[in-house]
Amino acid sequence: MVKKLKRLGIKTIRDLLFYYPRAWDDFSKPQLIRNLQIGQDAIIKAKIVQIKQSRTRRKWMSIVEALIVDDSDQIKAIWFNQPFLMKILKPGDEWLFAGKVGYDRNSKVKILNAYQYEKEPPSGTLILPVYAETEGLSSKYLRKLIKPLMAQVEHLITDFMPQDIIDSEKLINEAEAIKKIHFPAISSDIEIAKKRLGFDELFFIALRMLQIKKELSENRSAALNCENKILKDFVEKLPFKLTDAQRKAAWEIIQNLGRNLPMNRLLEGDVGSGKTVVAAMAVLVAAKNNECKAQSVWLAPTEILANQHFKNVSELLKPFNISIGLLTSANKRADLEKDDLIIGTHALLQKNVTISRLGLIIIDEQHRFGVKQRAHLRQGYGGQARQVIPHLLSMTATPIPRTLALALYGDLDISIIDEMPPGRQKVITRVISPDNRQKAYDFIRQEIQNGRQVFVICPLIEPKDSKPINLFEVDRKSAIQEYEKLSKQIFPDLKIGLLHGRQKSKEKEATMQKFHEGKLDILVSTAVVEVGIDVSNATIMMIEGADRFGLAQLHQFRGRVGRGKHQSYCFLFSESWSENTKKRLEAMISSNNGFELAEKDLQIRGPGELVGIRQSGLPDLKMASLSDIILVKKARAAAEKTINEGLEKYPKLLAKLAEIETERHLE
Ligand code: ADP
Ligand code: MG
Repeated sequence: MVKKLKRLGIKTIRDLLFYYPRAWDDFSKPQLIRNLQIGQDAIIKAKIVQIKQSRTRRKWMSIVEALIVDDSDQIKAIWFNQPFLMKILKPGDEWLFAGKVGYDRNSKVKILNAYQYEKEPPSGTLILPVYAETEGLSSKYLRKLIKPLMAQVEHLITDFMPQDIIDSEKLINEAEAIKKIHFPAISSDIEIAKKRLGFDELFFIALRMLQIKKELSENRSAALNCENKILKDFVEKLPFKLTDAQRKAAWEIIQNLGRNLPMNRLLEGDVGSGKTVVAAMAVLVAAKNNECKAQSVWLAPTEILANQHFKNVSELLKPFNISIGLLTSANKRADLEKDDLIIGTHALLQKNVTISRLGLIIIDEQHRFGVKQRAHLRQGYGGQARQVIPHLLSMTATPIPRTLALALYGDLDISIIDEMPPGRQKVITRVISPDNRQKAYDFIRQEIQNGRQVFVICPLIEPKDSKPINLFEVDRKSAIQEYEKLSKQIFPDLKIGLLHGRQKSKEKEATMQKFHEGKLDILVSTAVVEVGIDVSNATIMMIEGADRFGLAQLHQFRGRVGRGKHQSYCFLFSESWSENTKKRLEAMISSNNGFELAEKDLQIRGPGELVGIRQSGLPDLKMASLSDIILVKKARAAAEKTINEGLEKYPKLLAKLAEIETERHLE
């Protein structure tokens, strides 16, 4: 059990307290069977008419099936691998059931993939917490562990939040919030508790950002300026006209570089919005700095991307006599003393790499590098504890909505390219129903015969990644399974590659390289597939289990096709049809704009679910909803106030910060 708890990140009693439920089953308000919708999570109160046990066709699972009725209708409820239920659930008994409403394609009726069943509890506790589970560790069990702790919460934690903030923001205290989040008495308790716990999370993000800002303002950077003439020349020699958004971003960056306050700027722009050329201008400024030439480093998350940048940036800067080196584990063509720009991968982060005149660091796909790696970069070069640190420009294709970015980062530290270069072709996006799967395969075959290439994205690596607790999960597509199916049954004559996060990076790079060179027709992959990669010959992006991905992420997948001259397509396959899924897939069809989609994602999805944001390196938010901009702003203001007063006034808060920092380093 201890091992299993560890898998959920639970090592101490305190961890249990902070293991918040992912949902609550509100048995106080059961729904009518007649009103259930496919894809919905539902609670019903129903009587068992009959119940029987059988095995699945492939014999590896047992099924318990019950016909249950309420006053409105009847439905079939199903449990997998829980044969003991036959002893508990008896015909004629009435129970409360929680489950996901599904659809049985064979008998064409609605079914309930049940995951909870409760006898009506005697009093009070009709709202029960549902926890994220792991194999062999159920919500029921976690509840049993957590419930007795509730009587001692006050002794287990001390509230770190300054009292005046608790008062002015009308928050409840931490112990109360924890009790209410696990075992709310009424449903409004959940909101009150979420507000407090969410505020805490946002407060700590803001504190951290402000601390970094303060540290930076205590350091200095070399001010980098070059003659305007050079920049003008650069812009004129480009094979295209810069978009207004690119101009604005470039201007902001150049202004920043010209001061001796260290720049810490995030350049954000959709895939294909043209961030590279903007960053190249920053390199140009550094290399042509009036005072003394400064060197730049450009970090890419993979070998292929480093090579791609090397090729493209060399082309862009060719007329300006700038020497560029490449440093990856496979390629060491860099002169760390003389090169004006060194492009590379993690290999650049090694201890023996020192660059003495380093003035600017550019990080592409910043979320792919750890916090520590980023810090090391900035300090590591040229010896210890330097007062003069390089400017930093991080880039990301994750569209954090502007409202949110501003609330979090403030006005000064983010540049957004929210406009695409003109003339981009629109990727035709379709949601494909299960009956049309074969047609999609036929279309894929035809495209490949015409020389094109295809991506297939799956939500899981292996089928057993998730416990088969209901029909949908059994159906969920895994990359390995899909790869087998496509290469053995559907397209045995085609060249198909497989890419997922459990492979060694060498293996991943090699597969990506093969696809890049056109040596593979189809690449089956999990979400690890490269964001920035340019495969202009790929024209189809097929996404399995599209309901499993956030809008921002779906949009990024789509951005990997439509990069060449051929018309491109994005096919979405879904396994559930809840209202939210429908809304999100429709948004994908109607919009081609990453920022718009991110805003929509914020509106449609619930707290902490914004996949794109999690990827962008912000800590995982369990309770706070980033769509609650007002709360984000309040938390930031409270953090500012606390820092200005001096953290040393708040010993409990300092202790909590130290604790968070330790956890971060253990990750
Ligand atoms: P990303 O922001 O995803 O890194 P890139 O910088 O790789 O995008 O640019 C994508 C493509 O668009 C490149 O081929 C680049 O040359 C081209 N590009 C960039 N800016 C413009 C522009 N203003 N007009 C036309 N094409 C552009
Ligand atoms: Mg890029």
